[in-house]
Amino acid sequence: MAPAQGELLGRWNELLDRVRATVPFYRDRLPAGRLTSLAQVSDVPFTTKEDFRANYPFGLFAVPAEQVVRVHMSSGTTGRPVVTGYTRTDLELWSECMARVLGAAGTGTADVVQNAYGYGLFTGGFGFHMGAERLGALVIPTSSGVTQRQVMVMRDLGSTILTCTPSYALVLAEAVEREGAASDLRLRAGFFGAEPWSEGMRAQIERGLGLEAFDIYGLTELGGPGVGVECTHHEGLHVFEDHFYPEVVDPESGRPLAPGEEGELVLTSLRREASPVLRYRTRDRTVLVDKPCSCGSPFRRILKLRGRTDDMLVVRGENVFPSQIESIVLEVEGLSGNYQLVIDRQVRRLDSLEVRVEAHAEADREELGRRAEERVRDTIGLGVRVTVLPPGALPRSEGKARRVVDLREL
Ligand SMILES: [Zn+2]
Repeated sequence: MAPAQGELLGRWNELLDRVRATVPFYRDRLPAGRLTSLAQVSDVPFTTKEDFRANYPFGLFAVPAEQVVRVHMSSGTTGRPVVTGYTRTDLELWSECMARVLGAAGTGTADVVQNAYGYGLFTGGFGFHMGAERLGALVIPTSSGVTQRQVMVMRDLGSTILTCTPSYALVLAEAVEREGAASDLRLRAGFFGAEPWSEGMRAQIERGLGLEAFDIYGLTELGGPGVGVECTHHEGLHVFEDHFYPEVVDPESGRPLAPGEEGELVLTSLRREASPVLRYRTRDRTVLVDKPCSCGSPFRRILKLRGRTDDMLVVRGENVFPSQIESIVLEVEGLSGNYQLVIDRQVRRLDSLEVRVEAHAEADREELGRRAEERVRDTIGLGVRVTVLPPGALPRSEGKARRVVDLREL
């Protein structure tokens, strides 16, 4: 059930007391005293990705190290990753939320969950694993990759639920088609997230794999997936408001917006022990819907994400900032500052990121390209293709250069 206002206020005050007592970062910036109404939530300062970086690795933890039993980390962002911690209770709460996510498709003991999210520092693999086990489903921890084996497992072990990134779901759909395996599959539902995806993609995935596709939401800063999920009406994602407090604000002024207005999603974790987060600026654009959903869920919805308020790109589940690619590429002697990032999504392929950059003058362009690729891979762990062009080859614009060309249908 969605918590009543009074209960939410109680949770907020308990959270404020707790972080004031344990996290110097919050102690120094939070207003004194208790909240007397939820309207005062907007007086609580925002937390940003920069705050996570500045307090890397454990500065935002609210419990002693002995109580932390797990950490996960985001990868790919500039320099320092985001570290999030879990106590035993946090893992319990997380698995409860993940069970709720999978529950949107009625997942139960008769189901076979093929979990093709990456296991490791990334939150997706472990999150879905715990949720599926909690429901008593059979979990196949395939992790991501090795596409042919995924199709074999899907067919031979009778997977009924698939969990992975939407771009990987498309890759799997193509492989299924190639092997003519569609009629042997028992898939009925899939949970896809960690990347932006469109309704067009949903149709392709559903057709290719013969399942109902559910959009999910979560992020490392808030502990991973399990913040919300679509119901079978697919008209927005219900946010688990007993765990997370959603707001939508004007990205410029930070002012709270009314339900129905598009802005930036801000989230507070009300119950997490090790890594509580207050008013996190997600930079994701959406709309908060307070109209009841015909499914009867007590939780309000956010609409499918409508892009970002910053220039961050999400490629294969990794966060990439164009400025970061620029600084890496400029470190390679012989390359100029004229560059363009091209993101593409093709059949049978994961999303690709190509960096087109001009050389300064006469140079061994292939060699320069190889060096730049290596540098990007070593720095942010993302495989990219670097195409080095002769000087003057890229289009010049009069105003703001078009640095990013996103050919994906988002
Ligand atoms: Zn609903």
